[in-house]
Amino acid sequence: MPNSATPTHCPYCALQCGMNLTPGADGSDGIVVVTERADFPVNRGALCGKGRTAPAVLSSRVRLTGPLVRRAGVLEPASWDEALDRIAEGLIRTRTEHGPDACGVFGGGGLTNEKAYALGKFARVVLGTSQIDYNGRFCMSSAAAAGMKAFGLDRGLPFPLEDIPRTGCVILVGSNLAETMPPALRYLTELRDNGGTLIVIDPRRTRTAEQADLHLSPRPGTDLALALGLLHLIVAEGRTDEEYIRERTSGWEETRAAAMAHWPEYVERITGVSVPELREAVRLFCEPEHAMVLTARGPEQQSKGTDTVGAWINLTLATGRAGRPLSGYGCLTGQGNGQGGREHGQKADQLPGYRKLVDPEARRHVAEVWGVDPDSLPGPGRSAYELLDALGTDIRSLLLMGSNPVVSAPRAAHIEDRIRSLDFLAVCDVVLSETAALADVVLPVTQWAEESGTTTNLEGRVLLRRRAITPPDGVRSDLEVMHELAARLGVEKGFPTDPEEVFEELRRASAGGPADYSGITYRRLAEENGVFWPCPGSVEDAGAASAAGVGVVAAAGAVTATGVGAVAADGTRALPVPGGQGLPRGDVHPGTPRLFLDRFGTEDGRARFVPVSHRAAAEEPDGEYPVLLTTGRVVAQYQSGAQTRRVDELNAAAPGPFVELHPRLAERLGAAEGQPVAVVSRRGRAVAPARITTGIRPDTVFMPFHWPGEGRANTLTNPALDPTSRMPEFKTCAVRLEVVGE
Ligand code: SF4
Repeated sequence: MPNSATPTHCPYCALQCGMNLTPGADGSDGIVVVTERADFPVNRGALCGKGRTAPAVLSSRVRLTGPLVRRAGVLEPASWDEALDRIAEGLIRTRTEHGPDACGVFGGGGLTNEKAYALGKFARVVLGTSQIDYNGRFCMSSAAAAGMKAFGLDRGLPFPLEDIPRTGCVILVGSNLAETMPPALRYLTELRDNGGTLIVIDPRRTRTAEQADLHLSPRPGTDLALALGLLHLIVAEGRTDEEYIRERTSGWEETRAAAMAHWPEYVERITGVSVPELREAVRLFCEPEHAMVLTARGPEQQSKGTDTVGAWINLTLATGRAGRPLSGYGCLTGQGNGQGGREHGQKADQLPGYRKLVDPEARRHVAEVWGVDPDSLPGPGRSAYELLDALGTDIRSLLLMGSNPVVSAPRAAHIEDRIRSLDFLAVCDVVLSETAALADVVLPVTQWAEESGTTTNLEGRVLLRRRAITPPDGVRSDLEVMHELAARLGVEKGFPTDPEEVFEELRRASAGGPADYSGITYRRLAEENGVFWPCPGSVEDAGAASAAGVGVVAAAGAVTATGVGAVAADGTRALPVPGGQGLPRGDVHPGTPRLFLDRFGTEDGRARFVPVSHRAAAEEPDGEYPVLLTTGRVVAQYQSGAQTRRVDELNAAAPGPFVELHPRLAERLGAAEGQPVAVVSRRGRAVAPARITTGIRPDTVFMPFHWPGEGRANTLTNPALDPTSRMPEFKTCAVRLEVVGE
């Protein structure tokens, strides 16, 4: 490989910061240095500590460089052939004895689009199982479900990040941007520099909340009531946009009635946010011409997450903001490919292109691309938690890629037990994660800098990660793993190992779907710093378009029923997309940075108000468990910590979990700073040192969730599921506290 800088993207969060990777100057391409890549507009060269130190995982001494197979209860080195044969035997045995749905597949929001696509195809075509889902279900699924309901289309941000500093007010709900994606904080700083205002809604006074003009600190799990109280005041103060409501929405009257039942004084009692604070938030949000609401995991990771996000979307509809320039609603997706990971088929209910698995036309289209009978494709399977909960009972074998549920799943001790009860577990990973350590076979796979592939960031911008170095001997890519396993399971074709070849097939499979990538090619991605979907191109000539390096538009067409590109009756492509423009035949579609400017993705082009009402969290404090627990992240660790806990610099900055609590609560408990505190919920017990701060409500404690063992926060969390998104209630549960060692 050339000893020069390769432009690529960070392996971690959904910002997908641009960076240059340069192999070491000594000629060895094993040591990689990260340098600034100022040309990428999202982060303009800025990186957080995780991105800057990401190469440390490439050369980590605990990195796996050969397969492991369990013999007599112990994981031991094995050849690739032995390891792959063992996996094939395990899956075939399960399928023969218990049927295809006894084989489970679990993916991750960090997998590239190509891997997510291939994994969905592998599950449905090779194994014939419906039982596939991924850890993105635990990330943004409530926002996705709410966006689908309201707008008929889910793309995290329907506008680019660059619009944020140019709006008038941002309400940021349940996002600690300063710690989760620090380079993005500048968008909020620039907003305020430009005279805009920032309202942060978070039970904790986070580093992000400290930047706000107004910080509202509701009880965890009450954001739905808070949004309803704000909507009540917007109506009562005559701040609705009646013309917009009439012209661009439906369902207002029912929503209005629901909001009017939530009097500000009632909302104050539920949330702890005072009526004057509510009025000030309404004033700041409604006075500017442009305003946005951005949500993240706070409102989304609840058993009423879909309704909660829906309530925040209603605010943007009632005030005429959604689908208008520099305005609207957006979700700040968390994982590196959290957006693309939900678009291409590793989700239990979806096919590539964000198509619905239950849609006969979608099944026909994708089956044709895959060369199989549409009737052979299984239907929707269980959601992530339900799938994990069925391990060892209905699901007997599991193939897992890019996830570490022993740390990251809710009610984690129970899920760990379920994993231990499997007949067979195979894990692909780069290190021996806590989940991989339980496997029968562990396959060591290539990492981000050692392979090419695409991701889709939180803006819906499709990006190209480039291979910068040669992988170590002994590791193979996830695509190679699927190719080898498919062959052993009798499917010789259809699982190429070259990422670009997979992407070409993905283009055809996504063509005409809501998330249409058919006009995107690797060459375009390399030249254009990413392309926003939907980006329709030629369906039939996808390969030729790739050779030309462009996505060629096949034909102009009328607006389709769904407002997104679709195949018209004459076989040509109908191009108009919500916010996009039809183009003449032969032109290149530019991609769609801004959605919904002309119409929403619903059948009638109108956004739908969704009437919602307050309801309590699945678990409220009581005499036995009198305190609320909420969980989240710290800046130096990422998700389950499988990678970042292997980086010395990050471990020094964030060596372990802690329990954050208010001085009044600490005094009642008799806990001193640094003293071990046991946090006990109905699901288990976790112990970590106390960190005492006035930046949290006195009725609430906070724990970060990156660590296994005694301080594993997810031992405590509640798997109560949202009825629509099937999102577990990570963000709130009832606990009691005990000082340890007294
Ligand atoms: Fe950027 Fe996120 Fe990577 Fe940090 S972790 S460098 S914010 S992509």
